[in-house]
Amino acid sequence: MAMTGGCHCGRIRLEIEGEIPQSLTRCTCSFCAKRGHLYAYYEPGKFRATGEDAAYRWNTKLVVHHFCPSCGCGTYSDIPAFGRDGSWDGQTRRIGVNARLIDDFDAATAPVTVIDGKNLW
Ligand SMILES: [Zn+2]
Repeated sequence: MAMTGGCHCGRIRLEIEGEIPQSLTRCTCSFCAKRGHLYAYYEPGKFRATGEDAAYRWNTKLVVHHFCPSCGCGTYSDIPAFGRDGSWDGQTRRIGVNARLIDDFDAATAPVTVIDGKNLW
């Protein structure tokens, strides 16, 4: 089933082929701790964003954090598909959607898994 979402001002719209994951992900790294995203992960081919956005990269610059330049909402992050041991094939990526932007869904009440970004990267 397709889901939709978008930023506050409506400039950026998101389309996802998939469901809400059983658990959202909260990362404790210095950036995510400030931004407060709850991530829902999807394969890049199952996700589409429309509207002109902006992006932020820090540290290794491997993760691209997209946001709306008009209203400031973080929309999604384009992330290397790291394994549990931190390895990466150098190619495969995944999309971490800011689940708070998904239409008709209350991310604040969903189950959440915490990843230890503060110590992992
Ligand atoms: Zn916006």
